[in-house]
Amino acid sequence: MGLYRGRFAPSPTGPLHAGSLVAALASWLDARAHGGQWLVRIEDVDGPRCPPGLDEVILGQLDALGLRSDEPPVWQSRRGDLYQAALDRLIASGHAYGCACTRAEIAAAAGPRPKHGELVYPGTCRHGTNGRPVRAWRFRVLGCIDWMDRRLGVQSQDLEAEVGDFVLKRADGLWAYQLAVVVDDADQGITDIVRGEDLADNTPRQIALQRALGRPTPRYLHTPLVLAEDGHKLSKQNGAAAIDLSDPESRLREAAARLGLHLHTADPLAEAIERWRAATIAGFPQLKDPP
Ligand code: GLU
Repeated sequence: MGLYRGRFAPSPTGPLHAGSLVAALASWLDARAHGGQWLVRIEDVDGPRCPPGLDEVILGQLDALGLRSDEPPVWQSRRGDLYQAALDRLIASGHAYGCACTRAEIAAAAGPRPKHGELVYPGTCRHGTNGRPVRAWRFRVLGCIDWMDRRLGVQSQDLEAEVGDFVLKRADGLWAYQLAVVVDDADQGITDIVRGEDLADNTPRQIALQRALGRPTPRYLHTPLVLAEDGHKLSKQNGAAAIDLSDPESRLREAAARLGLHLHTADPLAEAIERWRAATIAGFPQLKDPP
């Protein structure tokens, strides 16, 4: 097997819950099943949304579950220089441009983004700001991106129509997730991204950025989402409970079951690695229809 470097990249906006544990476990299992490395990266790039101390809470939760980073974790909040260098490069190559529009101006000019109700930037500043001061930096998208997911198969997104020129550096000076994640995955030599299906929609933006920066595109596997009883995605935003770590093995078994792995032995992690390896070779039959 070739080099494999995977990662789990939580945003410390809340403690791990049953849904984020599934993504953590899947990425860990995939790395272990490939004899690869697994890294933890704290995605605290959106500082105001990350209460102090939650990074350590998450690292403690992972540790209690036996999911430990093979290298010291990195914090996005300390990596601004790398993001700035990437932005400078994108500006120099014409892939990024300064935008002077306010939110209200964009709302007035843009059409709604059908899937999420987000706004598709109408491209007002693509050819300059007409002397108005630059507020944010945007990536100039072009056409469609086709990509392959190990579970979902061939995917396609029309970036221009569905997403529009997206933000790399926000008007408040914060780095956008899309840029930080691409720079970090490339800098850390990540070969395989395993994460929740809610992020699949971001993948084409990230591939476009990788190409513009001349970096390789990793393999992708998006795992089924864990739904709350009301059918909504479990998320910190809708108050998903932190995982109860009084019985870590039971939590691991539950997360594995969400991945279609029903474990029976006393060593759930070792058993899960074996089962995951077999599933990988078979093409994830147990994940085709989300449980
Ligand atoms: N930080 C993102 C989140 O917690 C995950 C990013 C990723 O895996 O690419 O939703």
